[in-house]
Amino acid sequence: MLFKDIIGQQEIKDRLVRTAKEGFIPHAQLFCGPEGVGKLPLAIAYAQYLNCEDPSENDSCGRCSSCIKYNNLAHPDLHFVFPIVKKAAKKKEVCDDYITEWRDFIKTSAYFNLSQWLEYIEAENSQGLIYAKESEEIIRKLSLRIYEAKYKIMIIWLPEKMHESCANKLLKIIEEPTDNTVFLLVSDTPDNIITTIQSRCQRINIHGVDKAAIIQTLSGDYNLSSEDAENIAHLSNGSFLKALETISLNEEHKFFFNLFVQMMRASYARNIKEIKTIGNELGGIGRENQKSFLAYCQKMVREYFVSNLKQAEMIYLAQDEANFGIRFSPFINEKNIIGFMDELALAERHIEQNVNAKMVFFDLCLKITMLIKQ
Ligand SMILES: [Zn+2]
Repeated sequence: MLFKDIIGQQEIKDRLVRTAKEGFIPHAQLFCGPEGVGKLPLAIAYAQYLNCEDPSENDSCGRCSSCIKYNNLAHPDLHFVFPIVKKAAKKKEVCDDYITEWRDFIKTSAYFNLSQWLEYIEAENSQGLIYAKESEEIIRKLSLRIYEAKYKIMIIWLPEKMHESCANKLLKIIEEPTDNTVFLLVSDTPDNIITTIQSRCQRINIHGVDKAAIIQTLSGDYNLSSEDAENIAHLSNGSFLKALETISLNEEHKFFFNLFVQMMRASYARNIKEIKTIGNELGGIGRENQKSFLAYCQKMVREYFVSNLKQAEMIYLAQDEANFGIRFSPFINEKNIIGFMDELALAERHIEQNVNAKMVFFDLCLKITMLIKQ
């Protein structure tokens, strides 16, 4: 991970580079700040910079043998500790048992939160923790002779999730540092870390990503129009993660809206071939999406009905939905509104009961062909 790949945060980057050049490298540092601002990528880029064999004025070279291993997050003197879930049956008990998943996940996107990580490792309802057993691993790794790097680095993501006995052992190690070992703790909620650890770390506060940097990334790497990028950057409040979530919500919205329009047009035209196609498409999007789509349809039908009453303050529609409503809303009226809502709710129940989804949606469209002409 290079500094240049991290969004914004120029001030922190400059500070990390400057202190590294001055040789001021505290052996325990705590990167703290809100979720989604790039703390973990900054810690990794800093570790890479400390070990780069040919660093430039403000970044690692990206090409030396240390950088190549760092690019793959697979340097023998780089260690990671992070919350996991124990899976006894699969013999997954410590972080190293998840290291492949961890590397792949970061390489996909270095901006993520705990629930996304837990979802990725299929934690289901289990909470992610750094278990007591991990402390033995930490001690073992630190007792290893340094292989080839200038600094042995241990990055601990979310130390606030550490089991108490593990935290106490870590404290002892931090109190008696071994040569050239650097601990980088990365925390969303530093107040939940035991105070004795907090007080032994050099604290680096990381604030939100500046708006201009988010706008630049969204319109460059994500191809958003400058207007959308500006809006999303504003809503994200400095969290790039939140910006990413807004984009995917937008995509879901567009997807559902297009399906809704297709479904209503085909039903209105009584185009059985098209109805079948839509039934097949909806049958393939997965049960959770099917339920969300039916909830979306109920919301739309309700909003279009209300918009006939000309009560503007009660209507919550996006621009594309409102435009479609100008011509469509007269088709939702007091004669069919209850029928529409009943049929959509019935379809939702059938999906929950695992009835064949293609049949459910085909049937629903046929019902709509009748309702829409009332
Ligand atoms: Zn390098």
